[in-house]
Amino acid sequence: MTESNRPYRLAHTMDARHPRALFPASAPADARPAIGVLALQGDVREHSLSLEAAGARPVVVRRATDLGDAPGDRLDGLVIPGGESTTMSTLLVAFRMLEPLRELIGAGLPAYGSCAGMIMLADRVEGAEEGQPFLGGIDMTVRRNAFGRQVDSYEEDLVAPELGADKDLPLHAVFIRAPWVEDVGSDVEILATTRAGRAAGASGSDGGRIVAVRQGTLLATSFHPEVGGDHRVHDVFVSMVTRRA
Ligand code: GLN
Repeated sequence: MTESNRPYRLAHTMDARHPRALFPASAPADARPAIGVLALQGDVREHSLSLEAAGARPVVVRRATDLGDAPGDRLDGLVIPGGESTTMSTLLVAFRMLEPLRELIGAGLPAYGSCAGMIMLADRVEGAEEGQPFLGGIDMTVRRNAFGRQVDSYEEDLVAPELGADKDLPLHAVFIRAPWVEDVGSDVEILATTRAGRAAGASGSDGGRIVAVRQGTLLATSFHPEVGGDHRVHDVFVSMVTRRA
């Protein structure tokens, strides 16, 4: 891809025609992609550590001005952590971030949503509150709280080659009041499904539930890869961001 037909440049790179480029700083600019972590609620620190381990520069995003005006302006990508999607919708509206985020995602800003973040990126949500706004972007139907409520959290070792997890080194997935994906459109890649059946009467998955998907620049998982220090999902997201830029 040439400079001129790139959709945007990595944040904090300098145009060679910029006057200051004649006097380059002695230390090279940080070449890592700047990836925001939406810090309204959830595992902000854990996602930041995973992003750093995956070679990105995590940036805390608390308000609309932290987002920048276009992809690559301040952020090369964005992580939307878990939490409670109803609260997150309310806070996004209250902080006037919902529309700017919709626009950035529509303009191609790569985003990764985990759990409630997955719900925010869904085009269709079952079990949403009346009038609850979402960001959308992934052509999928997500069912909120599908794995049960807080006391029903569920764990499984997932084999998901697209996420770098084979059967010798599966991905330990932690589901906390997690959604699953009921159906996806034809442009959505399914990256992981659950395998395990559940014991009669127990909560959890029946097996075969879609729990990780990707569509273009958007990635979503039902589970929380940031707990436990495994950064393979973040590796995948960081490579989506750097490929894009
Ligand atoms: N149940 C939450 C919701 O509907 C998601 C849970 C999570 O992010 N851990 O938003």
